[in-house]
Amino acid sequence: MIGVSILGATGSIGTSTLQVLALHQERYQVVALSANRDVEAMLSLCKEWQPAYAVMADEVAAEQLRKLLSDTDIKIKVLGGIKGLDIIAALPEVDYVMAAIVGAAGLQSARAAAKAGKRILLANKEALVMSGQLFMDEVRDNGAQLLPIDSEHNAIFQCLPQDYEKGLSKVGVRRVLLTASGGPFRTMPLNELEAVSPEQACAHPNWSMGRKISVDSATMINKGLELIEACWLFNTRPENVEVVLHPQSIIHSMVDYDDGSVLAQLGCADMRVPIAHAMAWPERMTSGAAALDLFDIARLDFEKPDLDRFPCLRLAYRAAETGGTAATVLNAANEVAVEAFLAKRIRFTAIAEVIEKTQNEIPQQPADSMEIIMSVDAASRQVATRYVDDLSNDLINGKSNNMSGGLDS
Ligand code: NAD
Ligand code: MG
Repeated sequence: MIGVSILGATGSIGTSTLQVLALHQERYQVVALSANRDVEAMLSLCKEWQPAYAVMADEVAAEQLRKLLSDTDIKIKVLGGIKGLDIIAALPEVDYVMAAIVGAAGLQSARAAAKAGKRILLANKEALVMSGQLFMDEVRDNGAQLLPIDSEHNAIFQCLPQDYEKGLSKVGVRRVLLTASGGPFRTMPLNELEAVSPEQACAHPNWSMGRKISVDSATMINKGLELIEACWLFNTRPENVEVVLHPQSIIHSMVDYDDGSVLAQLGCADMRVPIAHAMAWPERMTSGAAALDLFDIARLDFEKPDLDRFPCLRLAYRAAETGGTAATVLNAANEVAVEAFLAKRIRFTAIAEVIEKTQNEIPQQPADSMEIIMSVDAASRQVATRYVDDLSNDLINGKSNNMSGGLDS
């Protein structure tokens, strides 16, 4: 049996992972599950899966879960806090770790899995964006295996030759074509963008995902984060990665070879496909996803992304090209701004403003150590929070920043 830990088990990726594992219970054993605060959801997962360990990142939630489980006859070791996450990422009986916590909160446990030499199924792209070089070094130095879950990167991985780690130019690859749906606002008149609500931003046309990544897709910073993720995963540079808008989300990305061949991976927009691929690799197994019906799809379209509509994508290119800690700043400012937008404290269009102002204020430095990265992350959050507070006060007072009507207008 292959032992599996799922970090972020109650989320969208966590749920899809458990659906895939439910189809292959003869092959995989769920050893550990984690969540942040959602005790009810975790309790029901514990009853269904009876893992050896359950971790709540929130200590109070851990205590509540412990109490609730003590009323049942299920014996599960409940751990709390970040330490608990590190423990279940490194247990000897765990072979594969699904890293599906959202945001910077997922970095430390993903690193713990790397240090323990596990197969890491990486959904948490923010870990690579924040600390790509150090994370990749930890994977290599500890003999861990990194398999991408992000659908685009999983597609690219499937289209690359096995020795791609030498560098893409050495294996005959001209460039990577990173596809993007363009999210829910691809065709909305530009002057309507400032008034969109969190609910509209989270209503992705093709994918059903957690709220943070849904907003990231609506601003298209998600594609910028993925550009940075692709550079680290596939040992290439931003100029070798081209973003292609493809509204149907059927082609999940492509690899363009020197000889003119372009390889693509296609499939329904269902995260169970990359999850089953990475779980079974190098074999194949069923995922529960529907078969692709090309007659039903009928056509595939492609467009160049419009950087005026998606300023966050421009800011991500800037960070990718700058290197060093620039991507750490981008990620931290984005997390702060998205949280404020979801809480209806700032407008959708202010997300880019908060990121850009934070980028302009935090000096770039080499991303040489985790200490530097964590201190840049903290400083960026502080600066971004200050801009969010300013914008939020302006919004309450009905001032400037395209904020004529207040948030609920
Ligand atoms: P989600 O919000 O649905 O789930 C997040 C999970 O992380 C939950 O289990 C939550 O309890 C846990 N969590 C949140 N904050 C935490 C904290 N501070 N400490 C510990 N645990 C915490 O998110 P999601 O959509 O499943 O995305 C997870 C990751 O996968 C993200 O990095 C996202 O970018 C990436 N991803 C998601 C999709 C998708 O289809 N949902 C696709 C590609 C990549
Ligand atoms: Mg993706």
